[in-house]
Amino acid sequence: MTDTQKTNLLGLSPEKLVAFFESIGEKKFRATQVMKWIHQKGAESFDEMTDVSKKLRAKLEGICEIRAPEIVTQNISTDGTRKWIIRTEGGNNNCVEAVLIPDGDRATLCVSSQVGCSLDCSFCSTGKQGFNRNLTAAEIIGQVWIAIKSFGPMDPNGPRRVTNVVMMGMGEPLMNFEPVVDAMTLMMHDNAYGLSKRRVTLSTSGVVPRIYDLVKRTDVSLAVSLHAPNNELRNELVPINKKYPIEELLAACQHYLDNLPDKRHITIEYTVMAGVNDQEEHARQLSKLLENLECKINLIPFNPFPHSGYDKPSNNQTRRFQKILADDGYTVTVRTTRGDDIDAACGQLVGDFMDKTRRSQKYIELRQVAE
Ligand code: SAH
Ligand code: SF4
Repeated sequence: MTDTQKTNLLGLSPEKLVAFFESIGEKKFRATQVMKWIHQKGAESFDEMTDVSKKLRAKLEGICEIRAPEIVTQNISTDGTRKWIIRTEGGNNNCVEAVLIPDGDRATLCVSSQVGCSLDCSFCSTGKQGFNRNLTAAEIIGQVWIAIKSFGPMDPNGPRRVTNVVMMGMGEPLMNFEPVVDAMTLMMHDNAYGLSKRRVTLSTSGVVPRIYDLVKRTDVSLAVSLHAPNNELRNELVPINKKYPIEELLAACQHYLDNLPDKRHITIEYTVMAGVNDQEEHARQLSKLLENLECKINLIPFNPFPHSGYDKPSNNQTRRFQKILADDGYTVTVRTTRGDDIDAACGQLVGDFMDKTRRSQKYIELRQVAE
């Protein structure tokens, strides 16, 4: 059997890992043991699993593997931000990025779900790249594994290296549903990474039917990329709005909140583009639009890239926009830039990496929403 035919245990959800062990005639509890070895102790080989019998280890060696995606580059910024370019299966052009942003006692990892994206939002460099392929669950959870391991051997009793995960790297997570759900389940599972559901956030541009599906499968926190307060403008910026307009998207958000076991809010992401969606009237319209939704608003100053056709708003304009909403009682945060010296970003770096010569802008902003 060649390696490529071996089952990669890294990406199996807890349920699938149990099913796998049962399918090879082994007891369920083996799945728990192996899951802890992989995700809590960072085991890369079956040899390390000392509480598993030698016989079973040899059997596993023959039919499965623990394989993380390959790291192309790792950069650590002077402010502690870490960034990886990761090669997924399928060669050189199949790279994605992950970024870890430390902030006091928390550290937020921004994870990618697809190479490229098919949804073609007008202001997004990932969208401009087109869609290349979906990541496997192993490639998604592998980003968490790689980030934690970059601090040295994994230690379940040591300090938490990743406290929050946001699915805000490359790709639209709801267009890669099963692998994303499997990976997020591992992020939150007690025998894997044990992150709080409040600290695992999926960001979507509004694939409405999948929001209804999502709440049946998981209870992660939800962020929605709105970017415009009316359908006319949103159709232009986020083309999937033509299929699922704002009213349907907000109804899906409300359904999501109503079906969670606890009280939560939706994070509304709003990328602010100078002269496009940053006027007073937009803020007022937005305030009205969201009046019945339990939400927090995160303003993201547009992050320029060559030939984007959009400009970054001035700080003053962003603050004015923020104030109108805050005066109406909303909690409004403005995303700040981090990791400038290593070009840390979500969604934009791989383009730079693949085509350095075309590059004119050097700074990129990090996405950070989770509490
Ligand atoms: N596809 C998902 C998640 C990835 S993008 C989504 O769209 O929600 C994460 C966030 O970054 C989204 O809110 C997206 O609209 C925003 N974004 C994309 N390109 C940007 C840019 N150039 N400047 C600022 N924000 C951007
Ligand atoms: Fe895809 Fe999100 Fe970029 Fe839109 S903003 S093109 S959904 S990655």
